[in-house]
Amino acid sequence: MRVFKFGGFSVSSAANISNLVNIVSQNSKDQLVIIVSAMGKTTDALEKLCSAYVAGSDEAHVILHEIKDYHEQIMAGLFDDPGHPVYDEVANTFIEIEWMMEDDPHPDYDFNYDQIVSIGELVSSKIISACLNQSGLTCKWLDARGYIHTDNTYREGMIDWDKTSASILGLQGQKNQVLITQGFIGGTSENFTTTLGREGSDYSAAVFASCLHAESLTVWKDVPGIMNADPALFDSARKYDQLPYSEALELAYYGANIIHPKTIKPLQNAGIPLFVRPFLRPGESGTRIDKAARLISDFPAIILKKNQVLLNISTTDFSYMDEIYLGTLIKLFGDAHIKLNMLQLNALSMSVCIDHNSEKLKKLTAQLSDSLQLSVTEGLELLTILYYTEKDVYELIAGRTVVVEQFSKDTAQLVLQQRRE
Ligand code: ASP
Ligand code: MG
Repeated sequence: MRVFKFGGFSVSSAANISNLVNIVSQNSKDQLVIIVSAMGKTTDALEKLCSAYVAGSDEAHVILHEIKDYHEQIMAGLFDDPGHPVYDEVANTFIEIEWMMEDDPHPDYDFNYDQIVSIGELVSSKIISACLNQSGLTCKWLDARGYIHTDNTYREGMIDWDKTSASILGLQGQKNQVLITQGFIGGTSENFTTTLGREGSDYSAAVFASCLHAESLTVWKDVPGIMNADPALFDSARKYDQLPYSEALELAYYGANIIHPKTIKPLQNAGIPLFVRPFLRPGESGTRIDKAARLISDFPAIILKKNQVLLNISTTDFSYMDEIYLGTLIKLFGDAHIKLNMLQLNALSMSVCIDHNSEKLKKLTAQLSDSLQLSVTEGLELLTILYYTEKDVYELIAGRTVVVEQFSKDTAQLVLQQRRE
């Protein structure tokens, strides 16, 4: 059994979905489980819809209309028969949002978010399932909320591994058919929908692969494989043919936009290789990630994270950053679900670089005691260079204003002022 994951780009148009069907057909000799994301930028649009709905703005209806239109257009490009049952199935799925919009929002923003944003994956998997069946394959649609069991941490659902693996194991032995389900979403014991964090579909795929003891997981992407830098930003970007799990995790951890960092652990633990392959050139081998692969440190990996904020937290009463004080401070970040992209310590202060997120920052600020002073600098970028040379650093920061820098033997991290566009 193999698991294939198709992200937003692979399902963003009728042409891409036809390509997906070809890839699946060519590989359907083996039993396949397919995990799909929402189509194109649907998750972003649903996020906006949710915030408009909670704010009580009519804009929510406009956005929903646009999202429905986009899906209609894709379906029109895939199904000749306007009476195909998929049209009704999709309309009935969007109705869930309409019903929510008739009522007042739930007091927990994140609860609303998950019930709304998850519709993107539900709709896309229904369309693709119908398309695979139309092509002559036998495809069975599964509701991931009955397989990925989580707690009720909305937007960051924590997986209950015992329950999840028992449910997923029940899928083994379903011969001669392709199974399709949604990435990114799970369900609570009260049957509410949760999501696993943005870009969480890779993680869902890894959970399915590990619980099924799959032969491999393949993530189909709009890049040739895992690159040492974002090809959209660096002309000289090179592909890794292979990477050890640990290196893939390093890249993901520092923010390379390749796979969700949570993806690696379940695969590594179960010894399942991960392939990252180019969706538009399925004949190419992409990158293989497993335990046997060789560490490649003869050229640097360059990771640029935009939209960063630097927080400087200093004490006003001369308490210094000992292990107790520091432990309390770090816990506040954990409680607010804020990832520390870089951390630097001095006796009386701590600097951290985090992703820009006003909501989370508000939550954190509310928790800081009066004996602390917080300064916030926005409009920054974080450049991480693994296996750097001095020349690499020099060339990459030429002409830039460096706000903070930190060097270890293999890793350089520099907080830079954002370039004016
Ligand atoms: N659709 C979700 C997102 O865009 C999950 C994913 O694609 O991985 O974040
Ligand atoms: Mg994605």
